[in-house]
Amino acid sequence: MLKVKNLSVHYGMIQAIKDISFEVNEGEIVTLIGANGAGKSTILRTISGLVRPSAGEIEYLGQPIHHMPTRKIVEQGIAQVPEGRHVFKELTVQENLDLGSFTRKDKQNIAADLEHVFERFPILSERKNQDAATLSGGEQQMLAMGRALMTKPKLLLLDEPSMGLAPIFIKEIFRIIQDIQKQGTTILLIEQNAKVALQIANRGYVLETGNIVLTGTGEELLASDEVQKAYLGG
Ligand code: ATP
Repeated sequence: MLKVKNLSVHYGMIQAIKDISFEVNEGEIVTLIGANGAGKSTILRTISGLVRPSAGEIEYLGQPIHHMPTRKIVEQGIAQVPEGRHVFKELTVQENLDLGSFTRKDKQNIAADLEHVFERFPILSERKNQDAATLSGGEQQMLAMGRALMTKPKLLLLDEPSMGLAPIFIKEIFRIIQDIQKQGTTILLIEQNAKVALQIANRGYVLETGNIVLTGTGEELLASDEVQKAYLGG
């Protein structure tokens, strides 16, 4: 579904991503794990068209997208939930969700999809007329995911969904991510919390200072000595 080929990304003189290649197949959860500054967010921002590569290609459903404007990339079915949530705090929960469906052409399906989001995140239904600013961190994360789901994505890009959340919310968010996969959405998941990410991922890639240093199934990486030492405190 997504093929990243020999991708390099620079910020001025700094090379954040160094000639990396990886792919995400339809129906998978693929995770990219790595320490702070390894380049995880840069990869997601490049896929979304927010940052342009200095070399390499990104192919989505057989089509190059690395020169496409972000709006078009979203229209092709890629949605990103950025790190730190970025919900519109002064808008209500309902208004935030409405923004997710703004660019959709299939207006007739929007009401049913909104109902699905409310079923998946009942707390959002209870709080739909409240300003997003009044939600807890975990609830804002759910709202950001709900808003991304309202774009009806084929590929969902999640940037550190567990960041700053209490353990009970982390469990809930990861359960929901698996549920979203079961319903047919492919997921590329960036996480510092390597353990939970690898537990739900079909495959993973380990990123170190802009390079992929290890790849395997979620199980293989969980069992690997290098991953145990570097990311799982074992
Ligand atoms: P974190 O988990 O801490 O967010 P990350 O793996 O997502 O880290 P990136 O945010 O992709 O890492 O950053 C990769 C590298 O690029 C880092 O060295 C970072 O300092 C640098 N970088 C990121 N954004 C910019 C920018 N806008 N300008 C200059 N350098 C940047």
